[in-house]
Amino acid sequence: MAEKILVVEDERNIASFVAMYLKNARYQVDIARDGAEALQKADSINPDLVVLDLMLPDIDGLEVCRQIRSTSDVPILMLTARDDDVDKIVGLEVGADDYLTKPFNPRELVARIKSILRRSSQTARSSRPQEAAMDHGNLRIDAGRREVTVSGRHVQLAPKEFDLLWELLDHRGLVLTRDQLLERVWGYTFAGDTRTVDVHVRQLRRKLGDDCPVATVWGVGYKVADDAAVT
Ligand code: CA
Repeated sequence: MAEKILVVEDERNIASFVAMYLKNARYQVDIARDGAEALQKADSINPDLVVLDLMLPDIDGLEVCRQIRSTSDVPILMLTARDDDVDKIVGLEVGADDYLTKPFNPRELVARIKSILRRSSQTARSSRPQEAAMDHGNLRIDAGRREVTVSGRHVQLAPKEFDLLWELLDHRGLVLTRDQLLERVWGYTFAGDTRTVDVHVRQLRRKLGDDCPVATVWGVGYKVADDAAVT
């Protein structure tokens, strides 16, 4: 059975262009032209993945993402016209799995979709021990419950923030490069957009707070090699 992709985009040219590439890659494609139709179809056709444009005529893409996420774990790839929107997409806890900035290469879109779908089926099979939990100073991360607490305070993390934190803690004392993190957390096997890692790390640091030991341990151990942004 071909996997179903719901493409949410009001610009007809882009929607049909994307649909054509996805059909060539042997996906089943359905198109929604606005946010209301997107919410209705996300519910009725039960897609395997949603490609969601940020700028829609009625309900904005972030709100659509938030609403889908309130009832479903379906992977969501956001499309944005501006690089500035990237922080909003991954920063507002709307729960998108990935994003692409327009104009994008359709082959990259297909590669990302493949990788997200592969990743989500792996997650469903769950190679990660269900009961595993890790403590690190006042931080506790519980893989079974997908819960993070700092000094007993519950911290709400987006799915990719959780996976990133898990990878960092699971390799404590080692340096993981951005490309390694992209591959481990997002499942990319090509030189991906390392900005994704930066934005997520920044969000993690903001959410976990200054009193969390991870913030300093990153400097000496988990340091993401490349520059001094993560210290
Ligand atoms: Ca649009």
